[in-house]
Formats: sequence, C-alpha cells, structure tokens
Amino acid sequence: MNDCLFCKIIAGEIPSDRVYEDDQVVVFRDINPMADVHLLMVPRAHVAGLNDLDETHDALMAHMLRTLPKLAAAQGLTDGFRTIINTGKGGGQVIFHLHIHLLGGKQLPGFG
Ligand code: 5GP
Ligand code: ZN
Repeated sequence: MNDCLFCKIIAGEIPSDRVYEDDQVVVFRDINPMADVHLLMVPRAHVAGLNDLDETHDALMAHMLRTLPKLAAAQGLTDGFRTIINTGKGGGQVIFHLHIHLLGGKQLPGFG
C-alpha cells in the first residue's frame, strides 16, 4: 500500500497541473507557488529523497538535471532559474518522494 502523495499524482489519482512528462519523470506546478513559476520535478519511481539514492539512480539523476534547463526555457525563464532539493525534516522536506523545485520569474530573493 503506497500512501505517497506524489506517487498518487504520478498515477493520476490526484489531479495536478502537469507541464511535462517522459518515461522517467513527471513535472507539475506546485500547489503553493513561491515564485511566478514554481514547478516540481519528480521521478516516476518512488525514491524518498537524496539520502536514498545509490548508483542505480545515476542515469535518472543525470536525466533530471539535464531536463531542468529545457523546462525553464519552455516556461520563458530566459534570465535564469533556481533549483532546490529539500532533504529530511531538518532540510524542510515535507513530501518524502524526491523532488526538485524549479523556481523563476521576477528577481528571486538572495540567500542570507
Ligand atoms: P518540500 O517541502 O517537501 O520540498 O516540498 C513539497 C512541495 O509540495 C511544497 O512546495 C508544497 O507546496 C507542494 N505540494 C504539497 N502538496 C501538493 C499537492 O497536492 N499538489 C501539488 N501540486 N503540490 C503540492
Ligand atoms: Zn512516491
């Protein structure tokens, strides 16, 4: 029994505003956007987070990273974009299905 919210979104059991999908990933809009553009990229395979990766995920992770700039361009983010991966409770992770936030639009605030 899989109670993972993002697995349900991937399966289409919970609706989402999907902007991209392929055989390895699904990308949809964050329900609570923190920027003009705020996407979440998730692998179709359930992986809880960065701590759960091993070498079998290397091709998937490379694919995810290499797909991000294409998504940003498709969203009109010609000036740049930000990516965030929260890991564990201490890192602010709330949904324990690995996801990369892609944010952009108006000038994003700096850190610190
Ligand atoms: P985390 O804090 O785990 O890195 O980020 C989880 C993100 O998932 C949050 O930005 C939150 O707004 C988003 N989120 C939570 N529930 C849903 C949902 O049901 N649909 C969508 N599209 N995003 C969600
Ligand atoms: Zn999942």
